[in-house]
Amino acid sequence: MTNITLALGDITEQSVDAVVNAANSSLLGGGGVDGAIHRKGGPGILDECRDVRASRYGKGLPAGQAVATTAGRLPARWVIHTVGPVFSTAEDRSATLASCYREALRVADELGARTVAFPAVSTGVYRWPLDDAARIALTTVRDADTAVTEARFVLFDQRAYDAFETAL
Ligand code: ADP
Repeated sequence: MTNITLALGDITEQSVDAVVNAANSSLLGGGGVDGAIHRKGGPGILDECRDVRASRYGKGLPAGQAVATTAGRLPARWVIHTVGPVFSTAEDRSATLASCYREALRVADELGARTVAFPAVSTGVYRWPLDDAARIALTTVRDADTAVTEARFVLFDQRAYDAFETAL
């Protein structure tokens, strides 16, 4: 059984086995959570991302998939990079957003990570409405078949925290 917990704060400060990064397809860094993870984790993470990209994802990591690197100077052991879908009113991309969480947990299981911190994937630059993103994130993690014992959603501001708390 995965225990779902909520925290208000910065994902880079979490003492967990793995933190999930809301990356972009390039895996070469960006703003938001991605920028914070690379800034605090140091350049080693980006080097590994470049290797992953060169060896396995020449065209970039597709939305809904996940890959792991080590976590450099972060308290966590691993970073699991996933790429959220950009929100669209023309097309329902919910399945892709759910896939981010499922794939991140699958990678966590491969690593043997038992405690995993998640950001609210796609709710920043990718503009997914918070309430809907929270519902998708929580139901997907709740229903996942995983050995992860704690899935901690780390919400960066009160508005995001409230959305997750309501959905939970
Ligand atoms: P995306 O491109 O998937 O939308 P963003 O990084 O822009 O990714 O935003 C995802 C969510 O992460 C947003 O809700 C944003 O407020 C939040 N966020 C930004 N920095 C951090 C951080 N250091 N820790 C946790 N959450 C963060």
